[in-house]
Amino acid sequence: MRAVFQTAVRLLFPSRCVGCGALVESDFALCAQCWRETPFIGGTVCDACGAPLPGADEAVRVECDDCMATPRPWARGRSAMLYRDKGRALVLALKHGDRPEVARLAAPWLARAARPLLRPDLLVAPVPLHRFKLLRRRYNQSALLARALAEQTGLEHCPDLLLRRRATASQDGRSAAERFANLDGAIAVHPGRKARLVGRPVLLVDDVMTSGATLAACAEACRQAQSGEVFVLALARVTKDH
Ligand SMILES: [Zn+2]
Ligand SMILES: [Zn+2]
Repeated sequence: MRAVFQTAVRLLFPSRCVGCGALVESDFALCAQCWRETPFIGGTVCDACGAPLPGADEAVRVECDDCMATPRPWARGRSAMLYRDKGRALVLALKHGDRPEVARLAAPWLARAARPLLRPDLLVAPVPLHRFKLLRRRYNQSALLARALAEQTGLEHCPDLLLRRRATASQDGRSAAERFANLDGAIAVHPGRKARLVGRPVLLVDDVMTSGATLAACAEACRQAQSGEVFVLALARVTKDH
């Protein structure tokens, strides 16, 4: 009976590729072509941001030029894919296209990228969105990603660990230095969540890492509130040369 019902549902609501809408076998999946066009990151990566690097010696900690030029206030970081082609399209669909199902699609990708960062007692928290933006967009895309990752890995999720103390102007079109200045003092740990954070490792989740300014402001807020080590995870990493 249940199988008959499921077949009927499938006929009425066939599963569609999250990337292009083509018919696929299961929900929250990509078709073969979208899969090929999604630039997943693998192999040797920068230990601070997850950008791909040439070479294969994974025993040595390596960092990309960006992270060497701008030392990061967090311990280690990873990214699941590059911000280009289908990777960029999926992020934009999640952020501006009202497609929250992208977060569920991305959960196993995030979990795989974050594997070297995972440890017991790790608290997962999203980069916060100011409440004005939250009203306009209806959801915080980073919080959807953080929740999907927490469900995938069984880690504890604290969606309101961090707060935006003031609305910040868009980071688009700013230089890296301007992006860091724009975020100065804008993010703080929720006063009611400080006790949960003290001494505890944190994994901060964002949709895109560009200059790293937002994640740096979040990491600094956690460290000031006496957190343990801070790790970061982005769904997509913007790089100059990929
Ligand atoms: Zn597709
Ligand atoms: Zn890096």
